[in-house]
Amino acid sequence: MRLAGLILLLSFGAPAWAYDGPIIDMHLHAWPLGEHGNPDKPKNIAAREKALIKLKEYNVVLAATSGPEAFLTAWSAAEPERLLPGPVFPCINGENPTWFQYRCFEAGGDFPNPAWLEAKYTSGEYGVMGELYNQYAGVPYGDPRMDPYYEMAQRLGIPVAFHTHSAPPLTAHQCCPDFRISNGNPLLVEDVLARYPKLKVYIMHANPLVYPEVLDLLTQYPKVHVDISPWEWVLPREKFHRLLQTYKEAGLLGRIMFGSDGHDYGDSLEAYNSAEFLTERELAGIFCGNAERFLRRRELCD
Ligand SMILES: [Zn+2]
Repeated sequence: MRLAGLILLLSFGAPAWAYDGPIIDMHLHAWPLGEHGNPDKPKNIAAREKALIKLKEYNVVLAATSGPEAFLTAWSAAEPERLLPGPVFPCINGENPTWFQYRCFEAGGDFPNPAWLEAKYTSGEYGVMGELYNQYAGVPYGDPRMDPYYEMAQRLGIPVAFHTHSAPPLTAHQCCPDFRISNGNPLLVEDVLARYPKLKVYIMHANPLVYPEVLDLLTQYPKVHVDISPWEWVLPREKFHRLLQTYKEAGLLGRIMFGSDGHDYGDSLEAYNSAEFLTERELAGIFCGNAERFLRRRELCD
């Protein structure tokens, strides 16, 4: 890899290496990518097949995949090995609080039945909690309605994934009347971390260029990790590299876990690989090793 990378550098001025090992994607979604409704609709089947082929093509050995119950069931049946499924909640009127419409849980409701959810974890069918949509649903991270779930995740050692920061423009006027930017500051996760000392947490969309507080949070809570999607494709390349540089200067690159949020892997990989200040070892950590350690798994990244 090093030699090939060097030749690339000499020929095109590209970075000295490009990571080409196994990938753990900590932010994938199983949900309608084609049309509202169920996973068996033709466009949703086609989108699922395309997404699962991409996992193999890019050697994604594990993908934390969140979505409504019916989609998680269908995706897991099609790809039992590589997915680490997790429910999305809280929901709004029983539906997922984003653009496409579908039921979160087959039994209905905005929150999963705790006994039902615990059985999903103990059977190994689910392996992560979230992406949690508190901000979309207008339910603060520290809301008492979340306590049974945090307690369960802490007791079972299940990682909890918080959506933070913001959402596409006019979210409060579209899907989610109770959406507030002010509910998405990653610092608000502090209350949960203080009350659940053994909870395994990662913060999604963590962007210290907008919320520098996230660096303090990571320093105060050394087990907390982040994913920094979708900034690798939303931000201009130079700004995304500044974001990475901010983590590097803070000595916190080891806490970044790669997430695609469903974006094209080729483009996402390039965004990281083109950051010339990242060493081969740092890239390998971001793309695989950091998540492997966080998930307490072995031999995924070898
Ligand atoms: Zn999100």
